[in-house]
Amino acid sequence: MTPDDEKFLRRAVAIASRAGASGERPFGSLLVGADGTVLIEDHNTVVSDSDITAHPELKLARWAARELAPDVAAGTTMFTSCQPCPMCATAIDQSGLGRVVYALSSEQFEEVRPAAPPPPPVRYEGPALFDEAREPIENYY
Ligand SMILES: [Zn+2]
Repeated sequence: MTPDDEKFLRRAVAIASRAGASGERPFGSLLVGADGTVLIEDHNTVVSDSDITAHPELKLARWAARELAPDVAAGTTMFTSCQPCPMCATAIDQSGLGRVVYALSSEQFEEVRPAAPPPPPVRYEGPALFDEAREPIENYY
């Protein structure tokens, strides 16, 4: 981790602090281009948007996939106040971004955050209807 990495990581933590002080959940992220330019930053807006997916990492991954050419995205780093959750990590993996630098790990986050009950389990059922379900896939590819 370079001094510039630490500078941008501190900026992500500052964004998280401001978000928490304003009533949002305390998470912040930014994207930094290969030349050290801050491209975009955002914070968690799960509360104000009433959107369970409004994590800053997901919003920035979507922005990168939409707005950046693949070679630019590959040279772009996401700095984020906590290790991305599985939802965000999946989006980041699809976004073309080249690197993620985070402050708190998921394990450290769980140690710092007050204990919360786990969400109720979701029952997944399948596979089913193989012949019917494969048709749109085969027709597309
Ligand atoms: Zn997330």
